[in-house]
Order: sequence, then structure tokens, then C-alpha cells
Amino acid sequence: MKKAFYATSFDDLRELLLNNNLNPHAASTLHNWHFKKKKVEACPENISLKTKGFVNDNFHFHLPKLESVLQSEDRTVKLIFKLTCGQKIESVLIPFNKKYTICLSSQAGCAMKCSFCFTGVQGFKRSLLAHEIVGQYLEAWRWLKQNRLGEERILNIVFMGQGEPLHNFNEVKKSCEIFLSTHGLSIGSQKITISTSGYLPGLKKWNKEMPPVNLALSLHSPFDEKRTQLIPINKKYPLKGVINSIDALKLQKKQFITYEYLLIYDFNDAQIDAHEVGQLLAGKRAYVNLIPFNPFPGSQYKRPPLQTVKVFKKILDTYKIPTLIRDTKGDDVLAACGQLNTSIN
Ligand code: SAH
Ligand code: SF4
Repeated sequence: MKKAFYATSFDDLRELLLNNNLNPHAASTLHNWHFKKKKVEACPENISLKTKGFVNDNFHFHLPKLESVLQSEDRTVKLIFKLTCGQKIESVLIPFNKKYTICLSSQAGCAMKCSFCFTGVQGFKRSLLAHEIVGQYLEAWRWLKQNRLGEERILNIVFMGQGEPLHNFNEVKKSCEIFLSTHGLSIGSQKITISTSGYLPGLKKWNKEMPPVNLALSLHSPFDEKRTQLIPINKKYPLKGVINSIDALKLQKKQFITYEYLLIYDFNDAQIDAHEVGQLLAGKRAYVNLIPFNPFPGSQYKRPPLQTVKVFKKILDTYKIPTLIRDTKGDDVLAACGQLNTSIN
């Protein structure tokens, strides 16, 4: 079976060439061509015919196929991809000053079934392979180059699209290694953030196995009972164990953990919730992102008024926890957090 070129690290490619008595420098030429220059056509440069033949025989260059694009009034772009198996996934390009953050999917659908999330409602289809994750980035870059020339700068990557990244640990890890490689895309480790609902088996492997990228935890409630209503796997992996394993992570200098807190009207937006979050996180290297709930067709929850969100932030301020209120981008094309569902596109 052919290997996915877009999931093969520079070191692995080099070793494979060496083991087959081919010039290992071709690894550098090929990674430069396909990842740095982001060319789709076969590499025309200085590579022997023998090496070209070897690459063709042993690698495929499949990427998810961009099927449709929705552009929001605020310039957020939702990209819908079709995988070779027919499943669909989504990525979102979030603009800031003619640069972008890309929100990637790690799975088609999600098995965690969070009650507030449109992806969770869709159910689990399958985990993505590393080249399908990397491919979302490459195709989004090409789309920008064709449609917003001069703006093809995707500086940050967040694993906040469809899926629970730590439930697809190995492929997500492999994709991060490709993103970080200085022979290819060369994205800084502090520019990549993986968001988890608290999938403990993945958190336990994090220190040993994951490259030093950022971690975000979807907290959403400091109380186990309420958190379980929102995130059912909290029953199996209660918050205390999750927080303990995050506290045990070795952070780089200046590195923080982001805690995402979804604010739902009359459910987890009271002052007592804010104080409990404050007590839970005070003294930790923590940032909080407050995300007002984004409604989707059929959702059972409501977004609180802005004033409630501001009061929540003020309370966290008293615990000296840096807190941001995340604005909602792309909600007119269902591209905001939690609005991704490819069963309706
Ligand atoms: N599965 C991972 C990452 C994808 S979800 C996780 O759960 O962390 C990315 C973020 O969007 C999470 O913080 C998630 O809780 C949030 N989210 C999901 N549904 C939402 C909704 N309807 N409104 C606002 N944020 C939502
Ligand atoms: Fe999955 Fe995250 Fe949505 Fe929960 S919030 S269902 S973990 S994508």
C-alpha cells in the first residue's frame, strides 16, 4: 500500500531514501516543494529519475477535496471538504488583519456527544488521518492564494473544528510534527493549540508524546454534575482527575493553559459559577476564554446577555485570571464554535 506523502516526516522520508540506496537530499527538495512552496504538481527539480520512480511507486499525494466555500460578512471562511471515503469535514479560516487562524477538524463528527455542540449532535463518523488534517491547511492556503491574493498567511492553528483531537491522538500528533517541521511548514509550536473536552487517556500521554504545542481545556463548568450534563465523558473522567493531569504537564517558559468556558443562559452563567472557576484556576498558569453560546438549528440552550458575560469576567479579574471574551465570528454561515455539522451541508 502506498504511504501518504503529506503525512511522512522529513526524517522518515530521508531514511527511506537512504535505505533504498537513493540520494537522501531529495527529501529536502521534496519537502521544500510540497510543504514550503505548497505545489500540487510533481516536483520538477533536481531529482533523479530513479528517485522520482521510487516516490511515485511508494507514495500517494491525496488531500481532502475542497467541495464548497461559504464566506461570512466578517470575512470568516468556512471550507467544506470531501474525503476520499465520501465523508465531509469542515475547516474555518478566522481573519485578523489580513492574516488568518485556521480551525481544523481532527475527526468527521465526534463521539463525545456534548449537548451544546452541533458536531456532537451529528455523531461520530471516523477519525482523520494525518494527511487529511495537514491537507485542510494546505488547501485553505491555496484557496486564499487564489481568492484573496496577498492574504495567504495562516499563522495560527487551532484544533477546534469537528472532533475530539485527543481521541485521535496519534494522527493529530503526526500532523503537528508535520506543521512544526523546519524543512516544511515551519509553524512555531506556540502557534498551535489543541483543544480537548477532557479526554483523560490523551492527557496522560501528552507530556511524553505530544510535541510542545499549546493545550486548551473545554471547562464549561467547575461543578461535576453540571459539567457532565454538558460533556458526557466527564462522568467517566471527572474534572478533578483532568485538572490534576493538566497541572502535572511541563510547560515551556511563558506557556499557559487556556480554559474555555462556554456561557449558557441560566445554566452556568451565575456569579457562583464564576467564583468557583476563579477558585479552581487562581494561581495556575491559566487564561480563560469566555465563549457566549452559539445557537444552531434545534439547540436547547440560549446565549446570555452581554452584561452577564461582562460580570462573569469581572469576577474572574478579581482572582487575577487573564480572561478574554471571545467574539463570535462567522456565525452567519454557521462557522462559529460549535456550529460545525457536515450532515446538513
Ligand atoms: N472537541 C474539542 C475541540 C472542538 S470544539 C473540545 O471540545 O474542546 C471547540 C470549542 O468550541 C470547544 O471549547 C467547545 O466547547 C466549543 N463549542 C462547542 N459548541 C459550541 C457552541 N454551540 N457555542 C459555542 N462554543 C461551542
Ligand atoms: Fe466533540 Fe468538542 Fe463538540 Fe464535545 S464540544 S461534541 S468534544 S467537538
